[in-house]
Amino acid sequence: MSYAQELLNRAVAMNPAEFEFHQAVEEVVLSLQPLFQRESKYQKHRIGERLLEPERQIIFAVPWIDDKGDMRINRGFRIQFNSALGPYKGGFRFHPSVTQGTLKFLGFEQIFKNSLTGLAIGGAKGGCNFDPKGKSDNEIMHFCQSFMTELFRYLGPNTDVPAGDIGVGAREIGYMFGQYKRLTNRFEGVLTGKNVKWGGSLARREATGYGAVYMAENMLKARNASLEGMVCAVSGAGNVAIYTVEKLYHCGAKPVTVSDSQGMIHHPAGINLEVLKQVKEVERARLTRYAELCKDAVYTPVESYPQGRNAVWSVPCQAAFPSATQNELNEEDAKQLLANGCILVSEGANMPSTIKAVDAFLAAGIAYGPGKAANAGGVSTSQLEMAQNASMQQWSFEEVDQKLKNIMRNIFTAMHQTAEEFGQPGNYVLGANIAGFRKVADAMIEQGGV
Ligand code: NAP
Repeated sequence: MSYAQELLNRAVAMNPAEFEFHQAVEEVVLSLQPLFQRESKYQKHRIGERLLEPERQIIFAVPWIDDKGDMRINRGFRIQFNSALGPYKGGFRFHPSVTQGTLKFLGFEQIFKNSLTGLAIGGAKGGCNFDPKGKSDNEIMHFCQSFMTELFRYLGPNTDVPAGDIGVGAREIGYMFGQYKRLTNRFEGVLTGKNVKWGGSLARREATGYGAVYMAENMLKARNASLEGMVCAVSGAGNVAIYTVEKLYHCGAKPVTVSDSQGMIHHPAGINLEVLKQVKEVERARLTRYAELCKDAVYTPVESYPQGRNAVWSVPCQAAFPSATQNELNEEDAKQLLANGCILVSEGANMPSTIKAVDAFLAAGIAYGPGKAANAGGVSTSQLEMAQNASMQQWSFEEVDQKLKNIMRNIFTAMHQTAEEFGQPGNYVLGANIAGFRKVADAMIEQGGV
């Protein structure tokens, strides 16, 4: 049995019911087999087994009181996966679907993503099965304070620096930062995604979406193509999707869809960015509101999607930007995209495509940028926020954006060259996984069995 298969069997046997974690492990370790065959040191030092085991997992109760005075309890997590390359870094997700398995898949991916950025950051993820939807500002604040009251002792600017993810934006980061400051009596760069008025970085809000588009441009340039004039399908309507739409317009492309967990918008004239921001960032409303404001847009509720499918991927497009959540694009969706002439997929979300969908993209030879490379712009800019905090500086938007562009270019080059080195040009799954793994694995060997 190959070392990669041994690792996958071990991950499944030791972590029953953590299906998303199994999926992430499968996608990574099977693509590492050519490296394991070439270099025996990784198996000798049991790097695979060590990487499957988070260095530390913190699971804790989060009690809080709602506006009616009733006690509520949620389960909080921080998975500190690997610190070979730097302090733990990775976002918090607040969503009712959050389980240990979800956060382990995200934390595992984060190790290789952070390594690919070339920056000094380890991998982590955290969050809670708390649903911010329908909660008042007061309830969000009380929840965030309780969450941080347990977690603050495990964090620090050189230890673990969390950020946002689904359900965690500038408002939640603000409440958590405030509580950390109160508990420790220290104003320091312990969270990223902060408001730019008190320690945040310009361009952090935009970074993940912009980065996914920069990655698309790099992939297309290698094929002598560009985004100019392309019709694009985008899923999601949160932070990543909004700034993907914005950057697509900068590149002369036309994004025509967005979606949320209740339904999708198809706007053939092009998504109206101003209305989208108003609906999602200001009103925090549903996409039905977008359809009210843009009469020529079509709203389709989830109940009307074709069975087992995501209707976003049936809209004809040349480029697709999955930017909502994991497993939102399955094999049938992939086949539909390909049949409609889609030649590029750049993943703003983490693991949005199922393994069979990824196989279909690779078999078709289209430009496919996996999430751990394509959405690494967010965490990279978080690291730039840490650098600004540590040196008590604030860089201009243009300076941060230029650094982001360079980082995305470097990530592209690393995955492109690694795919060629292993005789599979254009296979960016293999390229990103091997390039990310090699750096962190070598650091682990050099630091010994710790
Ligand atoms: P967000 O601002 O909370 O937005 C998430 C969007 O996805 C919302 O429109 C949400 O709709 C939709 N969504 C969530 N769960 C869904 C589901 N089960 N089915 C359909 N739609 C769903 O979060 P975000 O920061 O944009 O994150 C989106 C993705 O990007 C996630 O995979 C995240 O891990 C990844 N990512 C984010 C960053 C970052 O910097 N923020 C960096 C790297 C990767 P509802 O509002 O209806 O729930």
